[in-house]
Amino acid sequence: MSPSSYLTGLIGAGIGPSLSPALHEREAVRHGVPLLYRTLDLDLLGTPPEQVGELLRAARQLGFDGLNITHPCKQLVLEHLDELAPEAAELGAVNTVVLRDGRAVGHNTDVTGFAKAFARGLPDAPTGHVVQLGAGGAGAAVAHALLNLGVDRLTLCDTDPARAAALADALTARFGAGRAAPGTPADVTTADGLVHATPTGMAAHPGLPLPAELLRPALWVAEVVYRPLRTQLLDTADRLGCRTLDGGGMAVFQAADAFRLFTGLEPHTDAMLADFAELAETPALGGRRG
Ligand code: NAD
Repeated sequence: MSPSSYLTGLIGAGIGPSLSPALHEREAVRHGVPLLYRTLDLDLLGTPPEQVGELLRAARQLGFDGLNITHPCKQLVLEHLDELAPEAAELGAVNTVVLRDGRAVGHNTDVTGFAKAFARGLPDAPTGHVVQLGAGGAGAAVAHALLNLGVDRLTLCDTDPARAAALADALTARFGAGRAAPGTPADVTTADGLVHATPTGMAAHPGLPLPAELLRPALWVAEVVYRPLRTQLLDTADRLGCRTLDGGGMAVFQAADAFRLFTGLEPHTDAMLADFAELAETPALGGRRG
């Protein structure tokens, strides 16, 4: 039997201004079900990330139905779960935990969220060769999604080359030889598309993540940064006439997929996209994470 109300939340550091509570609670109102979404901010609680297991245990005891997990706990939480969904196991990272029937099951809706946003926002985009900037947490999820979507060849660039190499190795082990390799931003000159998954373009990291001269109109450009929604990279690419995708779709579809997992209800993704657009413009809201 489904619960008549839901208690959910987000564990992470610096998550006070996250949009997730508003996105989930507004969607629950549309379904007419009571749902609370609380932030469990490690910084405010004074809890080190290594103690995420204790926080999860407390949440289980308090009757939480599910939790989102964000930086810096997406990997640390793994050892505290009873089961992993396939995409979370492949990636080795969890952003959603469903607590049901005494079990904690980890999922990764960053992977499914990016895939859905890409399919919706850049349908029929050529996927022979894609260059991705950034091989951190978001980069790993997005790279998995891209290869699942059928990208033939993914070139990974990171200012920390060891990170790009390690992600390429992990992707090669999962998807087979020739699908992913480290490279440089100059590889974009012969690519079909560019995916940006570094923090460049956020207020704290303004600017472009690669020289503008490397862009050309035939290239599609997908952004992962969502605050601000219009980054300098998207503006530059739009001016050139490139097809572009902002980071809001990934943020919304990962939330929608988590909502479905928490409640079993089918989210109204168009309404959630509209909520996100409104919330992202509200200066007091919209955080670094979650
Ligand atoms: P991270 O710190 O884990 O990884 C960032 C990586 O980018 C690092 O490996 C760093 O070395 C590399 N990097 C930095 N500048 C670079 C440059 N100019 N060229 C190449 N590599 C560079 O961060 P993260 O958690 O992966 O987050 C990255 C961005 O993605 C953030 O802005 C975050 O807000 C955003 N994000 C968006 C969503 C969404 O739903 N849209 C989800 C998660 C994260």
